[in-house]
Amino acid sequence: MNTIKLFQEDVYIKKFTATVINKDIEDGKSVIILDRTAFFPAGGGQSSDFGTINGLSVLDVFEKNGVISHIISGSADFNTDEMVTCEIDWPHRFKNMQRHCGEHILSGMFFREYGGVNRGFHMGKEYMTIDISLEENSNFTEITWAMAKNIENLSNSIIWKNAPVITRFFENREEAEKLPLRKALAVDDDIAIVCVGNIENPSDCVACCGTHPAFAGEVGLIKILKVEINKGMYRIHFKAGEEALLDYQEKHEIIAKLNSRYSANTFDLLEKVFIQEEKNKAYRAQLNTFRQLLLKERVMETEAALVSSDGIAVVSFEALKVDDLLQIGRSVTDEISKLLLIISYEESTILFFSDGKTVDCGKLVKETAHIYNGKGGGNNNQARAILPKPENIPTYIDLIQKHLR
Ligand SMILES: [Zn+2]
Repeated sequence: MNTIKLFQEDVYIKKFTATVINKDIEDGKSVIILDRTAFFPAGGGQSSDFGTINGLSVLDVFEKNGVISHIISGSADFNTDEMVTCEIDWPHRFKNMQRHCGEHILSGMFFREYGGVNRGFHMGKEYMTIDISLEENSNFTEITWAMAKNIENLSNSIIWKNAPVITRFFENREEAEKLPLRKALAVDDDIAIVCVGNIENPSDCVACCGTHPAFAGEVGLIKILKVEINKGMYRIHFKAGEEALLDYQEKHEIIAKLNSRYSANTFDLLEKVFIQEEKNKAYRAQLNTFRQLLLKERVMETEAALVSSDGIAVVSFEALKVDDLLQIGRSVTDEISKLLLIISYEESTILFFSDGKTVDCGKLVKETAHIYNGKGGGNNNQARAILPKPENIPTYIDLIQKHLR
Protein backbone atom coordinates (compact mmCIF):
# COMPACT_ATOMS: atom_id res chain seq x y z
CA MET A 1 0.00 0.00 0.00
CA ASN A 2 1.36 3.38 -1.00
CA THR A 3 2.04 5.84 1.82
CA ILE A 4 -0.41 8.78 1.90
CA LYS A 5 1.68 11.88 1.25
CA LEU A 6 0.38 14.55 3.61
CA PHE A 7 2.97 17.02 2.25
CA GLN A 8 1.12 16.86 -1.08
CA GLU A 9 -2.20 17.68 0.58
CA ASP A 10 -0.82 20.47 2.76
CA VAL A 11 2.84 21.38 2.65
CA TYR A 12 2.54 23.30 5.95
CA ILE A 13 1.68 20.27 8.14
CA LYS A 14 4.28 20.22 10.89
CA LYS A 15 2.68 17.82 13.41
CA PHE A 16 0.53 14.80 12.65
CA THR A 17 -0.47 11.37 13.89
CA ALA A 18 -0.16 8.18 11.86
CA THR A 19 -0.42 4.44 12.25
CA VAL A 20 2.67 2.24 12.10
CA ILE A 21 2.29 -0.19 9.19
CA ASN A 22 5.65 -1.91 9.50
CA LYS A 23 8.78 -1.81 11.65
CA ASP A 24 12.09 -3.43 10.72
CA ILE A 25 15.60 -3.28 12.09
CA GLU A 26 18.38 -2.82 9.53
CA ASP A 27 22.03 -2.20 10.45
CA GLY A 28 21.02 -1.33 14.02
CA LYS A 29 18.47 1.25 12.84
CA SER A 30 14.68 1.10 12.82
CA VAL A 31 12.94 1.40 9.47
CA ILE A 32 9.40 2.66 10.05
CA ILE A 33 6.58 2.67 7.51
CA LEU A 34 3.50 4.72 8.38
CA ASP A 35 0.06 4.77 6.75
CA ARG A 36 0.52 8.50 6.09
CA THR A 37 3.33 10.96 6.47
CA ALA A 38 4.24 14.63 6.22
CA PHE A 39 7.95 13.69 6.10
CA PHE A 40 9.24 14.51 2.63
CA PRO A 41 11.61 11.82 1.28
CA ALA A 42 14.67 12.99 -0.65
CA GLY A 43 13.78 13.73 -4.28
CA GLY A 44 13.95 16.26 -7.10
CA GLY A 45 17.27 17.52 -5.79
CA GLN A 46 15.72 18.31 -2.40
CA SER A 47 17.08 16.57 0.70
CA SER A 48 14.79 14.64 3.03
CA ASP A 49 13.07 15.99 6.12
CA PHE A 50 14.22 15.48 9.67
CA GLY A 51 12.07 15.46 12.78
CA THR A 52 10.72 13.03 15.36
CA ILE A 53 8.34 10.06 15.65
CA ASN A 54 7.13 9.70 19.27
CA GLY A 55 10.10 11.89 20.23
CA LEU A 56 12.69 9.68 18.49
CA SER A 57 14.87 11.43 15.91
CA VAL A 58 14.22 10.68 12.25
CA LEU A 59 17.63 10.56 10.53
CA ASP A 60 16.54 9.93 6.95
CA VAL A 61 13.40 9.43 4.86
CA PHE A 62 13.22 7.75 1.49
CA GLU A 63 10.60 6.51 -0.96
CA LYS A 64 10.60 3.25 -2.85
CA ASN A 65 7.72 2.16 -5.11
CA GLY A 66 5.35 4.63 -3.47
CA VAL A 67 6.21 3.50 0.08
CA ILE A 68 7.99 5.99 2.36
CA SER A 69 10.43 4.68 4.98
CA HIS A 70 11.57 6.64 8.05
CA ILE A 71 14.95 5.79 9.57
CA ILE A 72 15.33 6.02 13.34
CA SER A 73 18.56 5.36 15.23
CA GLY A 74 18.38 2.23 17.41
CA SER A 75 15.32 0.16 18.24
CA ALA A 76 12.06 2.16 18.25
CA ASP A 77 9.79 1.19 21.19
CA PHE A 78 6.49 1.22 19.29
CA ASN A 79 4.70 -1.56 17.47
CA THR A 80 2.78 -2.23 14.29
CA ASP A 81 -0.77 -0.78 14.34
CA GLU A 82 0.26 1.68 17.04
CA MET A 83 -0.69 5.33 16.59
CA VAL A 84 2.41 7.57 16.75
CA THR A 85 2.85 11.33 17.00
CA CYS A 86 5.16 12.85 14.44
CA GLU A 87 6.73 16.25 14.07
CA ILE A 88 8.90 17.46 11.23
CA ASP A 89 11.88 19.81 11.70
CA TRP A 90 10.06 22.82 10.25
CA PRO A 91 13.00 25.31 10.14
CA HIS A 92 14.96 22.76 8.08
CA ARG A 93 11.99 22.03 5.79
CA PHE A 94 11.11 25.68 5.30
CA LYS A 95 14.71 26.49 4.41
CA ASN A 96 14.60 23.64 1.87
CA MET A 97 11.32 24.97 0.44
CA GLN A 98 12.78 28.46 0.09
CA ARG A 99 15.95 27.22 -1.60
CA HIS A 100 14.13 24.77 -3.84
CA CYS A 101 11.46 27.25 -4.93
CA GLY A 102 14.21 29.82 -5.52
CA GLU A 103 15.71 27.36 -7.96
CA HIS A 104 12.35 27.08 -9.78
CA ILE A 105 12.04 30.84 -10.18
CA LEU A 106 15.62 31.28 -11.35
CA SER A 107 15.43 28.37 -13.81
CA GLY A 108 12.07 29.64 -15.09
CA MET A 109 13.54 33.08 -15.73
CA PHE A 110 16.63 31.76 -17.55
CA PHE A 111 14.26 29.75 -19.75
CA ARG A 112 11.80 32.57 -20.42
CA GLU A 113 14.40 35.28 -21.05
CA TYR A 114 17.23 33.40 -22.77
CA GLY A 115 15.84 29.97 -23.63
CA GLY A 116 18.34 28.47 -21.18
CA VAL A 117 17.47 24.94 -20.06
CA ASN A 118 18.30 23.77 -16.55
CA ARG A 119 20.18 20.49 -17.11
CA GLY A 120 21.59 20.02 -13.62
CA PHE A 121 20.69 21.04 -10.08
CA HIS A 122 22.77 20.70 -6.94
CA MET A 123 21.28 21.57 -3.57
CA GLY A 124 23.96 20.71 -1.05
CA LYS A 125 24.46 21.84 2.52
CA GLU A 126 27.04 24.43 1.55
CA TYR A 127 25.96 25.71 -1.83
CA MET A 128 23.36 25.51 -4.60
CA THR A 129 23.95 25.52 -8.34
CA ILE A 130 21.99 25.11 -11.57
CA ASP A 131 23.59 24.25 -14.91
CA ILE A 132 21.99 26.26 -17.70
CA SER A 133 22.41 25.04 -21.27
CA LEU A 134 21.86 27.41 -24.21
CA GLU A 135 21.94 24.62 -26.79
CA GLU A 136 18.28 24.96 -27.79
CA ASN A 137 18.34 28.68 -28.39
CA SER A 138 20.43 30.28 -31.12
CA ASN A 139 19.74 33.86 -30.02
CA PHE A 140 22.23 33.68 -27.16
CA THR A 141 25.72 32.23 -27.20
CA GLU A 142 26.73 32.98 -23.64
CA ILE A 143 25.46 34.03 -20.23
CA THR A 144 27.30 37.14 -19.10
CA TRP A 145 27.33 38.53 -15.58
CA ALA A 146 25.05 41.35 -16.77
CA MET A 147 22.55 38.79 -18.10
CA ALA A 148 22.69 36.89 -14.80
CA LYS A 149 22.01 40.13 -12.91
CA ASN A 150 19.00 40.76 -15.13
CA ILE A 151 17.68 37.30 -14.21
CA GLU A 152 18.37 37.98 -10.54
CA ASN A 153 16.35 41.22 -10.70
CA LEU A 154 13.46 39.57 -12.56
CA SER A 155 13.44 36.63 -10.13
CA ASN A 156 13.27 38.92 -7.12
CA SER A 157 10.48 40.95 -8.70
CA ILE A 158 8.45 37.72 -8.91
CA ILE A 159 9.09 37.21 -5.19
CA TRP A 160 7.96 40.78 -4.42
CA LYS A 161 4.79 40.28 -6.47
CA ASN A 162 4.16 37.28 -4.20
CA ALA A 163 3.19 35.13 -7.19
CA PRO A 164 1.25 31.95 -6.22
CA VAL A 165 3.07 28.61 -6.44
CA ILE A 166 0.53 25.97 -7.43
CA THR A 167 1.10 22.22 -7.76
CA ARG A 168 -1.30 20.33 -10.03
CA PHE A 169 -1.45 16.54 -10.05
CA PHE A 170 -2.10 14.49 -13.22
CA GLU A 171 -2.78 10.80 -13.74
CA ASN A 172 -1.15 10.77 -17.18
CA ARG A 173 1.06 12.92 -19.41
CA GLU A 174 -1.58 13.92 -21.96
CA GLU A 175 -3.25 16.51 -19.74
CA ALA A 176 0.01 17.56 -18.07
CA GLU A 177 1.65 18.31 -21.41
CA LYS A 178 -0.99 20.94 -22.19
CA LEU A 179 0.75 23.17 -19.65
CA PRO A 180 3.62 25.42 -20.86
CA LEU A 181 6.35 23.14 -19.45
CA ARG A 182 9.96 24.31 -19.65
CA LYS A 183 11.22 20.73 -19.70
CA ALA A 184 9.91 17.51 -21.28
CA LEU A 185 8.21 15.11 -18.86
CA ALA A 186 10.36 12.25 -17.60
CA VAL A 187 7.52 10.24 -15.98
CA ASP A 188 4.31 8.76 -17.40
CA ASP A 189 1.96 8.75 -14.42
CA ASP A 190 1.44 10.29 -10.99
CA ILE A 191 2.72 13.59 -12.40
CA ALA A 192 3.06 16.75 -10.28
CA ILE A 193 3.42 20.02 -12.19
CA VAL A 194 4.56 23.10 -10.31
CA CYS A 195 3.68 26.54 -11.69
CA VAL A 196 4.88 29.86 -10.33
CA GLY A 197 2.51 32.69 -11.21
CA ASN A 198 -0.16 32.94 -13.86
CA ILE A 199 -0.81 29.60 -15.60
CA GLU A 200 -1.22 31.39 -18.98
CA ASN A 201 2.21 32.98 -18.74
CA PRO A 202 3.94 31.40 -15.77
CA SER A 203 7.30 32.47 -14.32
CA ASP A 204 8.04 28.76 -14.13
CA CYS A 205 6.20 25.58 -15.07
CA VAL A 206 7.86 22.20 -14.64
CA ALA A 207 7.28 18.71 -13.32
CA CYS A 208 8.54 18.42 -9.73
CA CYS A 209 7.95 16.17 -6.73
CA GLY A 210 9.52 18.53 -4.17
CA THR A 211 7.91 20.74 -1.55
CA HIS A 212 7.21 24.41 -2.31
CA PRO A 213 5.74 27.33 -0.40
CA ALA A 214 2.27 28.50 -1.46
CA PHE A 215 3.54 31.90 -2.55
CA ALA A 216 6.82 33.08 -4.08
CA GLY A 217 7.02 35.82 -1.42
CA GLU A 218 8.04 33.16 1.11
CA VAL A 219 11.30 32.63 -0.79
CA GLY A 220 12.26 36.09 0.46
CA LEU A 221 15.37 36.71 -1.64
CA ILE A 222 17.43 35.22 -4.46
CA LYS A 223 21.07 36.18 -4.95
CA ILE A 224 23.31 34.92 -7.77
CA LEU A 225 26.89 34.64 -6.54
CA LYS A 226 28.86 33.42 -9.53
CA VAL A 227 28.52 32.32 -13.16
CA GLU A 228 31.08 29.85 -14.46
CA ILE A 229 31.43 27.74 -17.59
CA ASN A 230 31.15 24.04 -16.83
CA LYS A 231 31.07 21.27 -19.44
CA GLY A 232 29.76 23.62 -22.14
CA MET A 233 27.01 24.92 -19.84
CA TYR A 234 26.72 27.86 -17.47
CA ARG A 235 26.87 26.95 -13.79
CA ILE A 236 24.97 29.48 -11.72
CA HIS A 237 25.88 29.59 -8.02
CA PHE A 238 23.13 31.17 -5.95
CA LYS A 239 21.48 31.47 -2.56
CA ALA A 240 17.81 31.74 -1.73
CA GLY A 241 15.69 32.47 1.33
CA GLU A 242 17.22 32.51 4.80
CA GLU A 243 20.51 31.27 3.33
CA ALA A 244 20.71 34.39 1.16
CA LEU A 245 20.13 36.58 4.22
CA LEU A 246 22.80 34.69 6.21
CA ASP A 247 25.20 35.12 3.31
CA TYR A 248 24.48 38.87 3.25
CA GLN A 249 24.97 39.09 7.03
CA GLU A 250 28.30 37.25 6.93
CA LYS A 251 29.59 39.32 4.03
CA HIS A 252 28.40 42.52 5.67
CA GLU A 253 30.40 41.62 8.80
CA ILE A 254 33.51 41.11 6.67
CA ILE A 255 33.01 44.40 4.80
CA ALA A 256 32.37 46.25 8.08
CA LYS A 257 35.66 44.90 9.51
CA LEU A 258 37.53 45.89 6.33
CA ASN A 259 35.93 49.35 6.44
CA SER A 260 37.19 49.83 9.96
CA ARG A 261 40.66 48.46 9.07
CA TYR A 262 40.99 50.78 6.04
CA SER A 263 39.08 53.74 7.55
CA ALA A 264 36.76 53.45 4.59
CA ASN A 265 33.08 53.24 3.87
CA THR A 266 31.73 50.45 1.68
CA PHE A 267 31.84 52.57 -1.46
CA ASP A 268 35.43 53.79 -1.22
CA LEU A 269 36.77 50.57 0.33
CA LEU A 270 38.10 49.16 -2.95
CA GLU A 271 39.84 52.41 -3.81
CA LYS A 272 41.46 52.52 -0.36
CA VAL A 273 42.62 48.90 -0.72
CA PHE A 274 44.19 49.76 -4.12
CA ILE A 275 45.92 52.82 -2.63
CA GLN A 276 47.31 50.65 0.19
CA GLU A 277 48.53 48.06 -2.35
CA GLU A 278 50.39 50.80 -4.25
CA LYS A 279 51.93 52.05 -0.98
CA ASN A 280 52.99 48.49 -0.12
CA LYS A 281 54.66 48.15 -3.52
CA ALA A 282 56.62 51.34 -2.91
CA TYR A 283 57.59 50.15 0.62
CA ARG A 284 58.80 46.84 -0.80
CA ALA A 285 60.94 48.60 -3.41
CA GLN A 286 62.41 50.90 -0.75
CA LEU A 287 63.03 47.96 1.59
CA ASN A 288 64.85 46.12 -1.15
CA THR A 289 67.12 49.13 -1.76
CA PHE A 290 67.98 49.27 1.97
CA ARG A 291 68.52 45.51 2.03
CA GLN A 292 71.00 45.67 -0.85
CA LEU A 293 72.89 48.48 0.90
CA LEU A 294 72.96 46.50 4.16
CA LEU A 295 74.17 43.38 2.35
CA LYS A 296 77.02 45.34 0.74
CA GLU A 297 78.06 46.62 4.15
CA ARG A 298 77.86 43.15 5.72
CA VAL A 299 79.97 41.67 2.91
CA MET A 300 82.66 44.26 3.67
CA GLU A 301 82.50 43.44 7.39
CA THR A 302 82.80 39.73 6.59
CA GLU A 303 85.83 40.36 4.37
CA ALA A 304 87.44 42.35 7.22
CA ALA A 305 86.72 39.48 9.64
CA LEU A 306 88.33 37.01 7.22
CA VAL A 307 91.46 39.14 6.89
CA SER A 308 91.90 39.51 10.67
CA SER A 309 91.09 35.87 11.50
CA ASP A 310 93.48 33.04 12.24
CA GLY A 311 91.74 30.99 9.54
CA ILE A 312 88.39 30.63 11.26
CA ALA A 313 86.26 33.76 10.92
CA VAL A 314 82.99 34.13 12.84
CA VAL A 315 80.40 36.83 12.17
CA SER A 316 76.80 37.25 13.25
CA PHE A 317 74.29 39.59 11.69
CA GLU A 318 70.86 40.73 12.79
CA ALA A 319 67.85 41.67 10.70
CA LEU A 320 68.85 39.49 7.77
CA LYS A 321 67.31 36.20 6.73
CA VAL A 322 69.37 33.02 6.31
CA ASP A 323 68.99 33.42 2.51
CA ASP A 324 70.67 36.84 2.74
CA LEU A 325 73.45 35.36 4.90
CA LEU A 326 73.98 32.64 2.27
CA GLN A 327 74.41 35.37 -0.33
CA ILE A 328 77.05 37.07 1.86
CA GLY A 329 78.94 33.79 2.40
CA ARG A 330 78.91 32.87 -1.27
CA SER A 331 80.22 36.26 -2.33
CA VAL A 332 83.38 35.92 -0.19
CA THR A 333 84.17 32.22 -0.83
CA ASP A 334 87.45 33.05 -2.63
CA GLU A 335 88.73 34.90 0.44
CA ILE A 336 88.19 32.06 2.95
CA SER A 337 91.44 30.50 4.13
CA LYS A 338 89.96 27.77 6.33
CA LEU A 339 86.39 28.35 7.55
CA LEU A 340 83.79 31.10 7.72
CA LEU A 341 80.86 30.82 10.13
CA ILE A 342 77.91 33.20 9.74
CA ILE A 343 75.40 33.16 12.58
CA SER A 344 71.74 34.08 12.62
CA TYR A 345 70.61 34.11 16.26
CA GLU A 346 67.05 34.94 15.13
CA GLU A 347 66.84 31.69 13.18
CA SER A 348 69.22 29.77 15.50
CA THR A 349 71.29 28.85 12.46
CA ILE A 350 75.01 28.70 11.75
CA LEU A 351 76.16 28.73 8.13
CA PHE A 352 79.49 27.07 7.30
CA PHE A 353 81.61 28.08 4.29
CA SER A 354 85.05 26.77 3.29
CA ASP A 355 87.19 26.25 0.20
CA GLY A 356 86.14 22.60 0.43
CA LYS A 357 89.70 21.29 0.85
CA THR A 358 90.98 22.27 4.28
CA VAL A 359 87.62 21.76 6.00
CA ASP A 360 84.69 19.57 4.92
CA CYS A 361 81.68 21.65 6.09
CA GLY A 362 79.06 18.90 5.73
CA LYS A 363 81.18 16.39 7.69
CA LEU A 364 81.91 18.96 10.39
CA VAL A 365 78.19 19.68 10.92
CA LYS A 366 77.41 15.97 10.99
CA GLU A 367 80.06 15.36 13.66
CA THR A 368 79.17 18.27 15.92
CA ALA A 369 75.56 19.56 15.62
CA HIS A 370 74.06 16.55 17.41
CA ILE A 371 75.98 17.42 20.58
CA TYR A 372 73.53 20.33 21.04
CA ASN A 373 70.58 18.36 19.70
CA GLY A 374 70.97 20.24 16.46
CA LYS A 375 70.31 19.13 12.93
CA GLY A 376 71.64 20.12 9.54
CA GLY A 377 74.00 19.07 6.79
CA GLY A 378 75.55 20.16 3.53
CA ASN A 379 78.51 19.51 1.27
CA ASN A 380 82.29 20.14 1.34
CA ASN A 381 82.03 23.86 0.66
CA GLN A 382 78.86 24.79 2.40
CA ALA A 383 76.64 23.51 5.24
CA ARG A 384 74.28 24.67 7.93
CA ALA A 385 73.56 23.67 11.51
CA ILE A 386 70.29 24.52 13.22
CA LEU A 387 70.30 24.33 17.02
CA PRO A 388 67.06 24.11 19.03
CA LYS A 389 68.38 26.74 21.50
CA PRO A 390 70.14 29.87 20.15
CA GLU A 391 71.78 30.40 23.58
CA ASN A 392 73.94 27.30 22.85
CA ILE A 393 75.45 28.88 19.74
CA PRO A 394 78.52 30.55 21.47
CA THR A 395 79.59 27.27 23.14
CA TYR A 396 78.93 25.40 19.92
CA ILE A 397 81.24 27.82 18.06
CA ASP A 398 83.93 27.27 20.74
CA LEU A 399 83.57 23.54 20.21
CA ILE A 400 84.05 23.95 16.44
CA GLN A 401 87.15 26.06 16.92
CA LYS A 402 88.68 23.55 19.36
CA HIS A 403 87.74 20.69 17.05
CA LEU A 404 89.67 22.24 14.17
CA ARG A 405 92.81 23.17 16.08
ZN1 LIG B 1 10.14 21.78 -7.14
